[in-house]
This record gives sequence, structure tokens and C-alpha cells, in this order.
Amino acid sequence: MPTEPQITRHVTCCIVGGGPAGMMAGLLLARAGVSTLVLEKHADFLRDFRGDTVHPSTLEILDQLGLYDAFRQRPHTEVTRLRGRFGDIEATFADFTHLPTRAKFVALMPQWDFLDFLAAHARKYPGFELLMQADATALRSADGKVIGVEAKTAAGPLQVTSDLVLGCDGRHSMVRRETRLPVKDIGAPMDVLWFRLSRKPGDPDDLVGSFGAGHILVGINRTEYWQCGLVIAKGTLEQIKTRGLDTIRRAITNLVPFLADRTHEITSFDDFRLLTVGVDRLTTWHRPGVLCIGDSAHTMSPVGGVGINLAIQDAVAAANLLARPLRERQVSEADLAAVQARRLRPTQLVQALQVQIQKRVISGVLGSARQPEPPLLLRLIARFPVLARIPARLIGLGYRRERVQET
Ligand SMILES: Cc1cc2nc3c(=O)[nH]c(=O)nc-3n(C[C@H](O)[C@H](O)[C@H](O)COP(=O)(O)OP(=O)(O)OC[C@H]3O[C@@H](n4cnc5c(N)ncnc54)[C@H](O)[C@@H]3O)c2cc1C
Repeated sequence: MPTEPQITRHVTCCIVGGGPAGMMAGLLLARAGVSTLVLEKHADFLRDFRGDTVHPSTLEILDQLGLYDAFRQRPHTEVTRLRGRFGDIEATFADFTHLPTRAKFVALMPQWDFLDFLAAHARKYPGFELLMQADATALRSADGKVIGVEAKTAAGPLQVTSDLVLGCDGRHSMVRRETRLPVKDIGAPMDVLWFRLSRKPGDPDDLVGSFGAGHILVGINRTEYWQCGLVIAKGTLEQIKTRGLDTIRRAITNLVPFLADRTHEITSFDDFRLLTVGVDRLTTWHRPGVLCIGDSAHTMSPVGGVGINLAIQDAVAAANLLARPLRERQVSEADLAAVQARRLRPTQLVQALQVQIQKRVISGVLGSARQPEPPLLLRLIARFPVLARIPARLIGLGYRRERVQET
């Protein structure tokens, strides 16, 4: 049987996955003079499931790169406070206006626009290349070291040779699977049904969040429509389907009353996309010649909307620590271990917080048909609004903020 001709490429760093981690790492490494090829399996960045929240910590990185003003010129929404309803309490739960950063807000930008933005700026560096419709299928190894990637591309099979493969291919990572890096599965009690409802004049501008009897609803303002996520107990979609669409329409109305006049826009269960939620972490992020960062190293729960921002922080740390050894073509496993050592603690802390919220708040809400009792912290915040600065700091800045270094 005739075989298709193989395209071969040599680069210093091959990045698998053009999500937030991969695009930011690609931009920074190319900026530092490292020849970098990003392989992205999709033809474009257009997907709904990825979340839209660009936090102050990420906006600081953009500021350090001189991209802050250009970012703000793209269509987006700026949310200075997170308001929400929890049972009977409606309050501001996070207030970003006092953060010690230039951006005192969370920017909501559809993730495909954010990734397009990063790609446009990365392309200004001669060492950067992004190959879309390039599905990395296997790692290439020699003498116990990863030496590159095999991929299926629109132009035929591709064989990449590189000093480093950076696994940025998200929670179903081929790189983590192929390297058999050990995974600690932490788990999540919920899944999310993703759907759209139209926006109407007089609707709020901000994010909508509501915790009610048995359900949680989050709505992201995308100008013409609300991108909604209905949080359900894990594995219960089939049960929900047997109860019928009206039950789900009623749940939405109870959670966010102003959406009542448009729940008829949901005409079948095909209008929902099920997103399964997971939380896990590799116990080792690297092997000789390969390193995982972002969700491929630590799959994040949507709680707090921090996953994109943690992935960006990983990318900054990786570029800070690896640009020089990559440029000198001497990247060692100790260099890769230094990235894990730098990013492990913040990852552990954020995941521990997510797991506590999943256990103590989300499981309770999803497991009960009654209006939930707000947790103590929320009751205190509702009473003493100044306390809304604490969640703002945790969500907006996280722990151990990275700075872009000139390497
Ligand atoms: C329901 C849900 C909602 C969420 N909401 C938010 C939110 O609002 N805010 C937030 O910050 N985080 C949110 N998260 C978490 C967030 O989506 C992730 O933490 C973040 O996207 C991780 O970025 P990443 O670059 O590591 O991986 P990803 O964003 O998953 O990107 C991986 C990329 O790799 C590509 N890829 C995969 N395999 C291959 C391959 N073999 N070859 C080539 N390319 C490949 C994929 O197409 C993708 O583009 C949410 C998660 C879930 C499940």
C-alpha cells in the first residue's frame, strides 16, 4: 500500500495544544528567541466549553508584555464585582475594585477571541509558528528520552523533532497518556449543562450566579446572549431527562427569575451540551524531553473560574525557567523539575480550595431539594461587604503570581 509522504520538522520546542497554556508559552518562548511550533488539533479556537474569564493576574501578564491596551480594545465585558444569589441571600461576593493591580476587574472575553489575540501577537516573533488542524497522535522517543511528536495534519503526516515537547493539550492529554506520568485523581461531584438564552434590554451586565434548591446556575454575558451553565450532580443527566424539559425550565426560573420569559428557547435536550467536570493532578509533570503544564498537568474544576489563569501562570513560569536552556539547546530534566517545583504549590492550594467548595457547598446544594443555607463566609460577606475583598483576591490574583522575565 502506498504511504503518504511524511513532512518532517525540526524545532527547539514543540508545544502540543493551542489553549491558554500553549498559546502563552508559545508567545513567550518565541519572544525569548526560541524556535517554537504549536500544534492545535482543531481548525479554529471556536468552542464553548472553555470559560471566558481573564483574571487580573492574567491581565498583569498582558500589561508586562505591553498588550494590556490592545487587549482592552477587543470586545469584552469588565466585571468589577461578582454578585450572586445563595438561597435567600443576594449579595456581592467578590469585589475586585481594591486589588493592588492595574486591572481591577475580571474581563469576560470569549476564549476563542482571547486565543486569537495571543496568536496574533505571537506571530510577530519570527520563531513562532502555529499549525492548526494538527492532531498530535504520539510522542517520539529515543534512548529513553522524548525527541518529538507525530501528528496528523491537513497536509499529511508530520514528524517533529524537538529538544522539548511541552504538553499543553488539556485534560484529555495525549502527552500525559503516552508518558504514563502518574495521576492523582481527586474527583468532582458535578457536571455542567452548557446552553444559551437570549439577552434582552434591561438584563444585568455582569455575570449571573445563583445557588438554589438542587441546582446552581452561572450566566456569562456574551452581549447578544447568555452563555449559561447549569450545574448538576455528576452522572444525573439521564434522570433529569426523564423528568422532562419543564422541570429544568422551572429550575432555571427559580434560580434566575428574569430568565423566565425565555426558557421556551430551550426546545429539546439537544440544546444542552454536557461538560463533565474532573479534578486531578500529575504527581510528576516531566520525563526527559517532555513537560506537562496547564490542565494536562492538573485538570481544574470550573469552581472560581481560575483554570485558564492558572494555565497562563504555568506558561509564564515555564518560559522564565526554560527559555535560556532551550536557547542554549541544553535543557535538562532538572530544568523541567524546576517548573514543577515552582508551580506545584499554587496548584495544590487552588485545587484544595476548589475541593473544599465542591464538598462543603456544591454537594450540599445539589443534594437537597430545599433552598440552601448560605455558608458562614457568605453570610459574613453579606453583613460586612468589606470582606468581599478576600474572595476577590483569591480568585483574581491567586497564590504566587508569576512575572514575565527578560530571559
Ligand atoms: C465546564 C467547565 C467550565 C470552565 N470554566 C472556566 C472559566 O470560566 N474560567 C477558567 O479560567 N477556567 C474554566 N474552566 C477550566 C479551564 O477550561 C481549563 O483549566 C483551561 O482551559 C486549561 O487551559 P489549557 O491550555 O491547559 O488546556 P485547554 O484549554 O484544554 O487547551 C488544550 C488545547 O489542546 C488542544 N489539543 C488537545 N489534544 C491535542 C492533540 N492531541 N493535538 C493537538 N492539540 C490538542 C485542544 O484542542 C485545546 O485547544 C472550566 C472547565 C470546565 C470543565
